[in-house]
Amino acid sequence: MTQRYHIWTEGCQMNVADSAKLAAGLDRFGWLTADAPETADLVVLNTCVVRERSEQRAVSHLGRMKALKRKGAAFRLVVMGCMIGPKDDELRRRFPYVDHFARPQAFEGIFAALGLADDSGGEFWPTTFSQPTGPTAYVPVIHGCDKFCTYCIVPYRRGRERSRPIEEVVQDVAHLVHAGVREVTLLGQTVEAYGNDLPEAPDLADLMTALHDLPNLERIRFLTSYPKDMTPRIVEAVRDLPKVCEYFNIPVQAGSDAVLARMRRGYTVAQYREKVDLIRALMPEAAITTDVIVGFCGETDAEFGETYRLLEALRFDKVHVAAYSPRPGTIAHRRLADDVPPEVKRERLQAVEALEAGISAALNARLQGAEQEVLVEGRRDGRWFGRTRSNKLVHFAGEAAVGEVVAVRIERASAWSLQGTTAADAVPLLV
Ligand code: SF4
Repeated sequence: MTQRYHIWTEGCQMNVADSAKLAAGLDRFGWLTADAPETADLVVLNTCVVRERSEQRAVSHLGRMKALKRKGAAFRLVVMGCMIGPKDDELRRRFPYVDHFARPQAFEGIFAALGLADDSGGEFWPTTFSQPTGPTAYVPVIHGCDKFCTYCIVPYRRGRERSRPIEEVVQDVAHLVHAGVREVTLLGQTVEAYGNDLPEAPDLADLMTALHDLPNLERIRFLTSYPKDMTPRIVEAVRDLPKVCEYFNIPVQAGSDAVLARMRRGYTVAQYREKVDLIRALMPEAAITTDVIVGFCGETDAEFGETYRLLEALRFDKVHVAAYSPRPGTIAHRRLADDVPPEVKRERLQAVEALEAGISAALNARLQGAEQEVLVEGRRDGRWFGRTRSNKLVHFAGEAAVGEVVAVRIERASAWSLQGTTAADAVPLLV
């Protein structure tokens, strides 16, 4: 009888890619997807614990699965991802109804637990992907992280940095392009560290150059940047390789050197600004987004003020802001006091959100009347949607098809998205 699986995914793009890879493996064994846990033979929760709220969502999902099992649901339950550390005894005690715990990317263990054998001689996991569901795909190129920022759990859960050889990534992407993908996002927790651990130490620029030759691949992106690893050579490759989009996500986390030192981010505000200045000097139209944590241990009003002023000065296209929450097992949790009151964290978070809403709206407003190249990703409520090279979401009318790159005339803009009509169908502008 056909078996069905249901995967719930929380967290970053790396988790999304891991879930896709697990689905690929199950598809290979003839399994089908189930829309809901109730109709599944296997339920997988791919968890994230980077923030307290993400962990709470995983725990409440586990509670729902427990209730379903109590009512007689017969699915096997697997929990994978960053919730699982090197030891799972505590988790087994807390969640005895879970059938198997798997650390991030420990796919083989899941298959062994399900009694499914990998007979590919090791070829199976690195190179096999599911049929992509749209024209864009995430491709992990470096796993793990060596940086050990004091607030972050990732290095303890995903291990040290390990890059995939260039040939292997090219093979993956060629497969994806053959299946209809037009844009790939190369993923790494610190993606510019790509290649440091490989023989001959190629870098991200070499990888992007190798991918650039693939016919029918329209766009290449990469995530997430770690400021210290971002070299002029990589920034120049973005400028010089036409398929690489002028879009950077470079988490700054704080605009105060003292806070950055407590976070052990490994750079100063001045060094961070140098990276942004270099990008803007080489590509004035590049979009740059960032991540910020407010209310980190010991953050004073003055230190937060420095962060606020940095955001005002650098005018990012988008800021992902989070209030600090201590993560058990991290250096900050062991050694620093979480001493910023919750209401102060909330005020700072709201201040950043309000500042950024104004900046994003103003930056997007500048695109009104301009034509933007959009890769069409789908159709919703009678309108097409897709993203610009600068990764801005566009909803638009006109003739288009999924997977096409079309020129769109931008007619309206908000902080969160752009609206328009394909240039071919737009009413000509009065001159
Ligand atoms: S660079 Fe820092 S914040 Fe990013 S994954 Fe590594 S330890 Fe975590």
